[in-house]
Parts: sequence; C-alpha cells; structure tokens
Amino acid sequence: MAIYPNVRFLTSAAEAHQLAPDTGREVAFAGRSNSGKSSAINAITERVGLARVSRTPGRTQLINFFELGNERRLVDLPGYGFAKVPEQVRARWLELMEHYFNVRESLAGLVLIVDSRRGLKAEDAAMLEWMLARGRHAHVLLTKADKLNRRDAQRVLKETQAACADTAVTAQLFSAHARTGLDAARAVMDGWLDGREPPTADGYANG
Ligand code: GDP
Repeated sequence: MAIYPNVRFLTSAAEAHQLAPDTGREVAFAGRSNSGKSSAINAITERVGLARVSRTPGRTQLINFFELGNERRLVDLPGYGFAKVPEQVRARWLELMEHYFNVRESLAGLVLIVDSRRGLKAEDAAMLEWMLARGRHAHVLLTKADKLNRRDAQRVLKETQAACADTAVTAQLFSAHARTGLDAARAVMDGWLDGREPPTADGYANG
C-alpha cells in the first residue's frame, strides 16, 4: 500500500489564476470546517502537520496543493459551513470552488469529509452533486468515528449509503485519532489516481 513517501506542499491558491498546473491527476478533499479534514489528510499521508489542524473554523480560504509524486496531487479545498463568516467571504469561497470544479481537468475524484456525529447535510450533498454533474468520482469519509459506539457508527454509515444509493458515491467510517479506515481511504484514492475504478470501501471491513 502506497503511503506517498514523496508528498510535499506544492502551492496555495487564493484566486482562480493561482491553481497548480492542470496536468496529471488529483484527488480533492472537501468538507465543512472542523469536520476533521486536515486530520484526515495528515493521517492518510502519514505526515504530521502537512495540513494544518485548526481550532478556528473558516479562516483558511485557500486551495492547498500537495504533490504526491509522478504528477499526482492531493488538493485540500477550503472548508465550508462556517456560520459566523461574513457574506463576502462566503461568496468568495463559492466563486473559487465553482471555478475549481468547472475548469479542473485533472480532478479525478472528491473525498468528502463529514463528521460522523453530524451526518450528511445539504451543503455536503451540494458538493457531491457538483462532482457527479461533472462525471467525477466521490467518496464520503465519515470522520471521528471513534466518538461513536459501533452501533451508531454503523447506523450513520447505512444512512449515508442510503442517501447516496442512486449514485456512484461510496462511503466509509474513518477515524484519524483511532487510525481506522486509513487503508480503505487510500485504496479509493489510489484507484482514482491510477485511473482505475474505485474499489468498494464499506465500513471498516476492508480498511
Ligand atoms: P478541519 O477544520 O476539517 O480541517 O478539521 P481538523 O482536522 O482541524 O479537526 C477539527 C477538530 O476535530 C480538532 O479538534 C481535531 O482534533 C478533531 N478531530 C479530527 N479528527 C478526529 C478524529 O478522528 N477523532 C476525534 N475524536 N477528533 C478528531
């Protein structure tokens, strides 16, 4: 299993024209602020501090590009769902996101980070729809699964899978802290980056 030994920060984009060159293939990570996106990226890449774990939701409005090697990238999209952020900041986020999803040829798939205690919300579903409308793959990581007992975790997984039932969107449980679901998430990412179909990632079973 590849653990991206050569991963390194490439560039940040605050504006549409600052995106990394659109070559090769990339996997983007998106999610509500505080959903555990940075922690998931750090756990998946085995690089402490690669993405900054923040206690101040909604402050970063940057797209961060990380090179994985061989023209493969991991892209950390700015978080959303920040209640106290001014309308202007929200509008900028939307503009940058729409541009990214519209132009990005190298975007192979989206890993959507959802706090397993909250479940899939309308804004998350909208992100999935953007991807599906562009014929791209999407996979939901239900994070912080260590905070749920096994029964509740399975219930959230089933509900998420049911919500995505008419689509090709897959879902799994994940915990950066308990280090569960890491291999399943990497397998999905690697499949997209290699141009293969994503394997079924179903709960912890194959993680
Ligand atoms: P981001 O804003 O989506 O990038 O989220 P962060 O990765 O910064 O995490 C937000 C908060 O959730 C932090 O306090 C993390 O310590 C916590 N967190 C992230 N992942 C996990 C996890 O797997 N389990 C638990 N219990 N907490 C987590």
